[in-house]
Amino acid sequence: MFDALSDRLGNTFDRLRGRGALREQDVRDAMREVRIALLEADVALPVARDFIEKVTEKAVGESVLKSVTPGQQVVKIVNDELVAMLGGSEGEDGHVPLTLEAKPPVVIMMVGLQGSGKTTSTAKLGKLIREKHGKKAMMASLDVNRPAAQEQLAVLGEQAQVDTLPIVEGQQPVEIAKRALESAKLRNVDVVLLDTAGRLHVDEALMAEMKAVASVATPTEVLLVVDSLTGQDAVNVAQSFSDEVPLTGVILTRMDGDARGGAALSMRAVTGKPIKFAGVGEKLDALEAFHPRRVAERILG
Ligand code: GDP
Repeated sequence: MFDALSDRLGNTFDRLRGRGALREQDVRDAMREVRIALLEADVALPVARDFIEKVTEKAVGESVLKSVTPGQQVVKIVNDELVAMLGGSEGEDGHVPLTLEAKPPVVIMMVGLQGSGKTTSTAKLGKLIREKHGKKAMMASLDVNRPAAQEQLAVLGEQAQVDTLPIVEGQQPVEIAKRALESAKLRNVDVVLLDTAGRLHVDEALMAEMKAVASVATPTEVLLVVDSLTGQDAVNVAQSFSDEVPLTGVILTRMDGDARGGAALSMRAVTGKPIKFAGVGEKLDALEAFHPRRVAERILG
């Protein structure tokens, strides 16, 4: 992950740091290289353009160019903007935690396309809420399109030691969501995770279903699950969902793979919402809190 991007930026910055003095043109040349590196890493074009504009504006000023270590200053500006691009100003290391302190049962709605890792991420999150937050969680699958989806969540629930809502054949998503909330209240559950249906593509029926579920479940968190390996497609999917559903955050899966990183770098700008977690494997504890500052450090080496 980020390897190619990191190498290319490293080369550009080594050259910048190697010079004693910098002219405006040197900065502009370096920024052209950074722009290409970002685009080749699959960063969305408007996001890359905006990034370069912001960095250039700050870096070509006299205070930087006339300073003793202009190269280092430029690299620092890039670092700061990279953290901002990843969503960095909030919290420790820029991590935005889950909102779990509302009146129970707190509802977390998971949305995303089929195959994005939504069901796995639901179970990972259930486990994390039980283990790290010490709260009682319950999960319910609202996926009535894919026959095995509800059973899959039940199996994962057993592994995660998190209860799942018993399956009732023939119920529709909104009915299942209502039943999950009722059951959660009866059983004193703190957090209910709703694993909504995914489809292969974003379509109107999917969005209508998400909105109907959101209106009965009034979720505190609506987390979009996207596969980081799908690059530009992940960005397009995020755009579609964020236009329709009130997202509160993003979970990027398959960050253990060799994604070029563009999805991670574009997500905050495209959705306006923080990446809260990264999926880093198939196992149920392979979920990491997303820390923009640490990710920026990894990219810049
Ligand atoms: P859904 O259709 O969106 O619910 O997707 P699933 O949760 O069924 O996941 C699809 C596949 O991706 C499964 O084989 C998961 O084990 C795998 N998967 C999910 N998240 C990750 C991840 O972060 N890393 C890796 N390597 N595999 C993942």
